[in-house]
Amino acid sequence: MSRRRPRRNVPSDGPFTVDRRFQSTLCTWFRRVRRPLPWRQSRDPYRIWVSEVMLQQTQVATVIPYFQRFLQTFPTLADLAAAPEEEVLRQWEGLGYYRRARSLHRAAKIIAAEYNGEMPREAEALARLPGIGRYTLGAILSQAFDQRYPAVDANAARVLCRLAAWDQPLGTSATQSWLQATAEAVLPAQGVGEFNQALMELGSLVCKPRNPECLLCPVRKWCQAARRGIQEQLPIKARQKQPCTIVEAGVIIRHRRRLLLVKRCADAARWASLWEFPHSPLQDHEDLPTAVRHLAGNDLGLNIELGRFLGVIAYGVTRFRYQLHVVEARRICGRLRLRNHEEARWTKPDELANLPMPSPQRRVVRLLGAQPLKCRS
Ligand code: SF4
Repeated sequence: MSRRRPRRNVPSDGPFTVDRRFQSTLCTWFRRVRRPLPWRQSRDPYRIWVSEVMLQQTQVATVIPYFQRFLQTFPTLADLAAAPEEEVLRQWEGLGYYRRARSLHRAAKIIAAEYNGEMPREAEALARLPGIGRYTLGAILSQAFDQRYPAVDANAARVLCRLAAWDQPLGTSATQSWLQATAEAVLPAQGVGEFNQALMELGSLVCKPRNPECLLCPVRKWCQAARRGIQEQLPIKARQKQPCTIVEAGVIIRHRRRLLLVKRCADAARWASLWEFPHSPLQDHEDLPTAVRHLAGNDLGLNIELGRFLGVIAYGVTRFRYQLHVVEARRICGRLRLRNHEEARWTKPDELANLPMPSPQRRVVRLLGAQPLKCRS
């Protein structure tokens, strides 16, 4: 079906505004239908902060068990600040976007050292902490301290775009500025945390990306998109880049009943400080045995004897689709050296569970479990 761009009916130089009745109607609806999510049980800024960081790019249903486990392991900000980074990453494992966990941990250490363990209430101080962007700042200040800051996640952005029939693509600076100004303009004088949550909840439960349930919507009478019947066409998405496939060679090298794991550098763009089996993209026209020998020789300084082919792990990261072909091998000789990693470890198989690993690498471990290695040396 063609998606015609709707005609604009809002001024480009000002935010969409609403009256007080809109705010009270939305909040009354929220009190009636709100989900009893575990981070909504109190206004503890630490719990709100952890949940908001986890919820970035991640579904509520996925976050709930992680949140509960994380809070059991680190019940207070002081517990998180005192924990080793490896333990924090292990608790985060599977949620992805590990930079969030490292920033959370660093920020907790700063709060413990410089703010006596108390979450700062000033926007300027919060904004200086690692990993606290405009959304997280607004969510903490409004929900924990009832300060008048908006919190615009993808759900709230969709609702606002539809309410105002905003027809510029998401992701443009014009839309970002408009969203921020609009989200500020619609805030009530009090109960800001509840209002922000109500807007997001509306996007999550009613004003969904597809098939918004306008007939059940509590704020339908204020909605310009519904009035014009263009709610399905909004918001306008930014143009997406084409997906790209990358084939990788991965190897599990064994030596004296141990397996070689390498640790990514702390400043790696992705999966920093996590452990993995050595792997790298196949070069043009390279076959798997050649690629694995190159990887072992060039990146690790090891001479290896190839063993069985263990399988293929398919995974995606943003628009990239990876196919990781995994083989086993045995170290013959060579002195271990590292070119692309900061640490290596010959690991007993039963120690793998304690090391933080990216999800695709944990699947490699499972591959190993499905086909136990025969350790000959
Ligand atoms: S009326 Fe429909 S499009 Fe408008 S806010 Fe409600 S659910 Fe969304």
